[in-house]
Amino acid sequence: MSKSKSSESVKVVVRCRPMNEKEKAANFERVVSVDVKFGQVVVKNPRGTAHEHPKVFTFDSVYDSNSKQVELYDETFRPLVDSVLLGFNGTIFAYGQTGTGKTYTMEGVRNDPEKRGVIPNSFDHIFTHISRSQNQQYLVRASYLEIYQEEIRDLLSKDQARRLELKERPDTGVYVKDLSSFVTKSVKEIEHVMNVGNQNRSVGATNMNEHSSRSHAIFVITIECSELGLDGENHIRVGKLNLVDLAGSERQTKTGAQGERLKEATKINLSLSALGNVISALVDGRSTHIPYRDSKLTRLLQDSLGGNARTVMVANIGPASYNVEETLTTLRYSNRAKNIKNKPRINEDPKDALLREFQEEIARLKEQLEKRSEKLEKERKAIMEDHSLVAEEKLKLLREKEKKMDDLKREREAAEMLAAKVKAMESKLLVGGKNIVDHTNEQQKILEQKRHEIAEQEEHIKERQELEQTQNELTRELKLKHLIIENFIPLEEKNKIMNRTFLDEENDHWKLRPITRIEDNQQMMTRPVSAVGYKRPLSQHARTAMTMRPDVRYRAENILLLELDLPTRTTKEYEEPVIAPKVAAALEDALRDEDEIQVDASSFHSSLPTPPGACVSTIKKPKSSRPKTGKKASTPTSATSPSSSGHPLYPQSRGLVPK
Ligand code: ADP
Ligand code: MG
Repeated sequence: MSKSKSSESVKVVVRCRPMNEKEKAANFERVVSVDVKFGQVVVKNPRGTAHEHPKVFTFDSVYDSNSKQVELYDETFRPLVDSVLLGFNGTIFAYGQTGTGKTYTMEGVRNDPEKRGVIPNSFDHIFTHISRSQNQQYLVRASYLEIYQEEIRDLLSKDQARRLELKERPDTGVYVKDLSSFVTKSVKEIEHVMNVGNQNRSVGATNMNEHSSRSHAIFVITIECSELGLDGENHIRVGKLNLVDLAGSERQTKTGAQGERLKEATKINLSLSALGNVISALVDGRSTHIPYRDSKLTRLLQDSLGGNARTVMVANIGPASYNVEETLTTLRYSNRAKNIKNKPRINEDPKDALLREFQEEIARLKEQLEKRSEKLEKERKAIMEDHSLVAEEKLKLLREKEKKMDDLKREREAAEMLAAKVKAMESKLLVGGKNIVDHTNEQQKILEQKRHEIAEQEEHIKERQELEQTQNELTRELKLKHLIIENFIPLEEKNKIMNRTFLDEENDHWKLRPITRIEDNQQMMTRPVSAVGYKRPLSQHARTAMTMRPDVRYRAENILLLELDLPTRTTKEYEEPVIAPKVAAALEDALRDEDEIQVDASSFHSSLPTPPGACVSTIKKPKSSRPKTGKKASTPTSATSPSSSGHPLYPQSRGLVPK
């Protein structure tokens, strides 16, 4: 009956909604941070100390407040719906506190294609898949139910007051008795079914938000697919997709409910707490008894938890600090659900496949039609023959003939009705290729192509925006440089540089030509090879020396000296000679400036009565430019040279120079 498959875990993803206007206005702290890359949700305690570590939870995927509906669909839900199309059962739960985005994730905003949730996105996905299929026949039907205060209501039934029962059959398991299901042939039709259900859901609820936060809504899509197997027989696979928007997970008692409300609260808690208990029992591993029977919800979704289904649980949380308790509870709850092991398998040829019934009915009707056609043909022939009889027994048979004509007419009508019925039944069975009128391959392909083009355009727009930004930045930089050039660089210098610039086309770079003394942009002059003479100016001596002897000294050409060749020292520091104190004193005196020499001329005058002119010449001051070198140290002796008087004239000694 079915292909078995190894077990797999329930996939749990977390989605954190953005802060809403109220929370922003009230300036609530954001306590949840989402690390999309690592699949982690980090929650810090708003009242905790600085040292308290934040709580970290890891999931299969996490989505932050910027997450797009389509991202969630493509990454998390599309694979699940794909497997439903293959014949697996699939379930998507949205779990979380009221107002965290469960309905947003499941249904989204109806008229906004970007904000459409999983349910409408799955419609598109399913019918697109069918329209592209080949040699397969599909039957898609939808049901919609609600569990409120442990009572099941069929949201598609005319009688909304009626409550439905859960039944169990050994072969097919738990089902809702008398739950209506509508065969849908297109996205439009299934959307209509959803809208009718949503309308019924809000009927009778005084406060829709409150009602929806206390009830569980389950939208069920059953997809049956018939295909010719390798054995030459038609085989039917049935996949069932449960899309569950659970009641708010917040503790109902917290709201201070009493009386009827408390009763309601306990009942709502019942399904959710039973769900929690089932999860615990499944994860525990030791429990042999799983309390599915404790609530309607757990009974109905028994297969999705530890059974024959693939399950994705979306845990919705809010980011603000005042929700931190509920957020942590939700994260712990869903963290446990990660460990539930399911055993999904393809449901092949189940007994209750509607598609099989349809196919058999169509075959039966077709057979009937064939028989009728044969009968019709016979009658026609008979009348034709009758026609020949008319001539003989005209009057007698006239009535009979008329009666036969009536019968014939009725027969024809019946046959037409039968044919219409066959057609109607066949139209419910969807086949891919060109047979589906409203979902042709072509249309889808064109749509895909258009989407692709749009995506490409968007890419181009993005690219253009980036280019514009770069251009703006460059313009700004250019303006700044212009400003600097205009204000700080002399015009003359600027022109010089401008004249030197050129575009190196190979590298796409502006470059500067080397400075030349020659105008009109010629290359700097290089010394022509043919030029006579030496590279450097040489003295006449050097030139003759070069020609005369092969002395390296004058070979300036082709010698490159990078450093000065410093010779080793050949001289010594000057040391003063040792001079006797007497000589030193004499030297000192001799070296003294003449200005300082005091000559006592009074005695000289009295002892030498000479004519005034002659006297002046003898004591004539020597030239002040007299060198003060040691060589002239002998001057004092020369002072003893005979003067005109014949008396040596010494300046007075001032005694020894202290050492
Ligand atoms: P729930 O069903 O869990 O009670 P709703 O889906 O009704 O919560 O979400 C409450 C509000 O938050 C709605 O107005 C919805 O539009 C908004 N919302 C929830 N999740 C998101 C999201 N991911 N991005 C933007 N708005 C969101
Ligand atoms: Mg809701």
